[in-house]
Amino acid sequence: MFTLPKLPYEYDALEPYIDEETMRLHHTKHHQTYIDKLNQALEGNNEWADKSIDEIMTNLSSVPQDIQTAVRNHGGGHANHSFFWQILRSPQESNEPAGQVAELINQKFGSLSDFQTKFTEAATGVFGSGWAWLVQDKGGELNIIKTANQDSPLSLGHKPLLGIDVWEHAYYLKYQNRRAEYVANFFKLINWEEVNSRLEA
Ligand code: MN
Repeated sequence: MFTLPKLPYEYDALEPYIDEETMRLHHTKHHQTYIDKLNQALEGNNEWADKSIDEIMTNLSSVPQDIQTAVRNHGGGHANHSFFWQILRSPQESNEPAGQVAELINQKFGSLSDFQTKFTEAATGVFGSGWAWLVQDKGGELNIIKTANQDSPLSLGHKPLLGIDVWEHAYYLKYQNRRAEYVANFFKLINWEEVNSRLEA
């Protein structure tokens, strides 16, 4: 049985950019529901229920056909949200990547600001509900991708380094239709040390 992971900070830790009420609902209602429906789907499938959520999403195409869509949606929801909470932290005055991830971002995108422009384009360009990601591919290269609904980058062979939830439930209470403003403020909340620690050598 999967259970709701505790947030690594308080519900109001991301204020004023992500409000306490949004965080509380997002974590205790939305994330919990993905977990409940994932557990329902995996009932009676001990072989899969014993794996980690990342292992399940990485091997999604081998999940039995009759539950594959449920696992794709709700397992993806669990994997994506568990990841998302980890790469955020309280806002800081100046928030720039350090270490190897900073070097790789400069190599791939030219500068942090060019990376932010491209990541923002991806996040604001997701049509409907989904996510934008910075991922590392098998060869070690960084890329920005978008996924629809709760599809996990792991199922596409990508290792997520950074991701933003652009479902309306992630920002609507505070930002209403202003997704671009939510995305701009997201950069102040990135835990770059955590992002860096997810790089593969
Ligand atoms: Mn969400």
